[in-house]
Amino acid sequence: SGKSRPMRILQYVQNTAVQGDANSVISAVDSYCANVEWAMNVGDKKGEILDAVVLDVRPRWVLELGTYCGYSTMRIARLLPPGARLITLEMNHHYAQVAKQILGHAGLDSQVDLLVGASSALIPQLKKKFDMDKFDLVFIDHWKTSYLPDTKLLEECDLLASGTVLLADNVTCPGAPEYLHYVRNSPRYKSLYFPSQLEYLRVEDGMEKSVFLG
Ligand code: SAM
Ligand code: MG
Repeated sequence: SGKSRPMRILQYVQNTAVQGDANSVISAVDSYCANVEWAMNVGDKKGEILDAVVLDVRPRWVLELGTYCGYSTMRIARLLPPGARLITLEMNHHYAQVAKQILGHAGLDSQVDLLVGASSALIPQLKKKFDMDKFDLVFIDHWKTSYLPDTKLLEECDLLASGTVLLADNVTCPGAPEYLHYVRNSPRYKSLYFPSQLEYLRVEDGMEKSVFLG
């Protein structure tokens, strides 16, 4: 089997999931990570919260911070309206290579732009690189101490519109206290907690949905 956990997840997908069927690839990753090796995907339980937010927002431009193997990327991409784009940022080259192949297996690579690099370096380049204005939805799921600085960077780069939805994973486990304090107390956000459980475990976790008010 593969040399790294992401490689082993990829091999399981290639061996068991139907090519071009995103739901089949998502299920394969979930069953591997629930039964064989835990991995830091948003997972099926919180994934349903993510799905509901994507369907509710019907975004044209989506940003994801933290791709890992592309699990949440697939969940978002499969629900996007026609013409929408999902830009996902991953600083680990090996994870990004695996994610590209998983997204390819799911048949979703045409709707997704995967950029390899640190979010703090890439965020200021996005407007020009994609000839875009504001994001409608941002899924925040990279290292937890980066949630707050990157949110402030998105504000500074003028990438948030009034009504933009930020959805932050793992705000209870492992937690992002500075971020939570900011979005819950700033008059620029209307913020709501969605209780759930940590991916593949019976451990309390939750997601915070914060609407930018401008
Ligand atoms: N969103 C993925 C999912 O649910 O399937 C899981 C992402 S995993 C929890 C976090 C990822 O963020 C890791 O792959 C890590 O390499 C990446 N990462 C951490 N800090 C980053 C940063 N500042 N810029 C880009 N990627 C980062
Ligand atoms: Mg997460």
